[in-house]
Amino acid sequence: SKTLRIKNLHVCVEGKPILNGVNLTINRGETHALMGPNGSGKSTLGNAVMGHPSYEVTDGTIELVDADGTVTNVLEMDASERARAGLFMAFQRPMAIPGVKLADFMRHATSNVRNPDRKEGEGLIPMREFRKELKDKMGHLRMDLDFARRYVNDGFSGGEMKRAEILQMAMLKPKFAILDETDSGLDVDAVKLASESIAEISADAAADGAMGVLIITHHDKLLERNTPDFTHVILGGRIVETGGVELAKELHNDGYDRIRAAYPEAA
Ligand code: ADP
Ligand code: MG
Ligand code: MG
Repeated sequence: SKTLRIKNLHVCVEGKPILNGVNLTINRGETHALMGPNGSGKSTLGNAVMGHPSYEVTDGTIELVDADGTVTNVLEMDASERARAGLFMAFQRPMAIPGVKLADFMRHATSNVRNPDRKEGEGLIPMREFRKELKDKMGHLRMDLDFARRYVNDGFSGGEMKRAEILQMAMLKPKFAILDETDSGLDVDAVKLASESIAEISADAAADGAMGVLIITHHDKLLERNTPDFTHVILGGRIVETGGVELAKELHNDGYDRIRAAYPEAA
């Protein structure tokens, strides 16, 4: 597919409306920045796109559109089908999976995406091939191979979790990636490495073309190597402004006071 198209998206969490009509279209090859005050619904948007069961879509559509115009209804797919269709999110607070080693978790997830019709117990990427690729990607991210033997996110530092999320993205080569505050908890050098890795991965992600990327961030470092084609500001569960890279710079420098004053009904 070529486009991720979100129209008039309304989402409730525990019966409470959080998103109130989000419109967002991301084409492969584009980088979008999503900014907004805490609690404005940024992570909710990502979770709803990924099919997290706690996020109830009460109105609107999420669709994948092919180059020939064929439309796939994402809302009919469960979370694992969405991942297989090429949707990916690096989580703000990744979940620990004690007892499951990172390498095993990633071998299954990567096999699911590369062989979308595979059944449990078959169609796994051969071990030798997988390990070679994993080792290569980990070297690139300056991660020790030992790290892959640890349980997923179990006792990982903030920075290790974020690196593991980027490693997953590098292996999965998604069509569309949502990076939810992937720069938080990273030191300056790690943010620089993350920024470079995201740019590299997005340029040659899937065999059939570049990624569409949605970067959720409060900072401008990740955007240095990933210049947004569009910057969106979300307030009160609605995208209230869209601009270019200058809007990201303004918000990073000046904060959200102007936005809150301009859209009092959303704030
Ligand atoms: P942001 O990522 O912009 O900081 P979130 O999307 O995380 O904002 O949260 C928006 C609102 O939705 C907040 O009021 C938050 O408490 C609520 N919310 C989000 N996810 C959940 C959840 N799983 N359970 C309960 N409330 C949630
Ligand atoms: Mg937040
Ligand atoms: Mg968030």
